[in-house]
Amino acid sequence: MAGGIYALANQKGGVGKTTTAVNLGACLAEAGERTLLVDLDPQANATAGLGVTAHGGSAYDLLDGASLAAVTQRTGLRNLFIVPSVSDLAGAVVELAQHSTGEAYLAQALAGVSEEFSFVFIDSPPSLGPLTVNALTAADRVIVPVQCEYYALEGLTQLLRSIELIRARLNPRLAVAGILLTMVDARTKLSTQVIAEVRAAFGDLVFETTIPRSVRLAEAPSHGLPITAYDARSSGAAAYFRVAGELAGCR
Ligand code: ADP
Ligand code: MG
Repeated sequence: MAGGIYALANQKGGVGKTTTAVNLGACLAEAGERTLLVDLDPQANATAGLGVTAHGGSAYDLLDGASLAAVTQRTGLRNLFIVPSVSDLAGAVVELAQHSTGEAYLAQALAGVSEEFSFVFIDSPPSLGPLTVNALTAADRVIVPVQCEYYALEGLTQLLRSIELIRARLNPRLAVAGILLTMVDARTKLSTQVIAEVRAAFGDLVFETTIPRSVRLAEAPSHGLPITAYDARSSGAAAYFRVAGELAGCR
């Protein structure tokens, strides 16, 4: 099993970071892997999408020195745990920037996490700011969701360059697990073209599986459920199970 700590990152919003963190986490939990989701986005979409409220502490407290055990909560799904986010986390950005070792706070807080959890997914905000830098400094691998749209490649080179920089300066372990094409509408020429273009530019770096545009995936968070619980037989669930398989197969 290729377990480890995965960061979801893309400075663009709305590309499927949170959807991927939640549902990939749920698929692996469903497959029996103890999985932890760390919600590092002050918008707390992953937290809300799993129907969780941060009653026992949050990622903010984790960055502030609280123990991982103290801020980890169960979700409604067996094997799936979460460190929830709160909007106050936005304030941490300033504090992190003031400390010379501020980019390593999350990495320190997650030291030893692999003894407790086989997979960890860190959801990050739509920017390359201090929270995302913390996520990338703590991770073994990064998954880059890319929305299958006309400007898909825009910003991707910059993101990969930032990942390189973090690898060189802060986290030599960091590798790109893959670029994941999301919201694919196979009936449209545009989707087919974008997929071809991204594969031509990034080759093996792109996950074989693509995630279809699926109403069920978009609906699930409003019920506080991952897709495995909301509609396990949907095309979206099948796709995320396949990505989980690609990860497990040591991608
Ligand atoms: P990010 O975290 O990168 O900002 P999200 O995962 O929140 O992106 O996705 C943005 C929006 O698109 C959300 O409303 C989400 O429900 C929806 N969405 C994400 N992936 C899909 C998909 N494959 N099919 C349909 N809707 C999706
Ligand atoms: Mg998000």
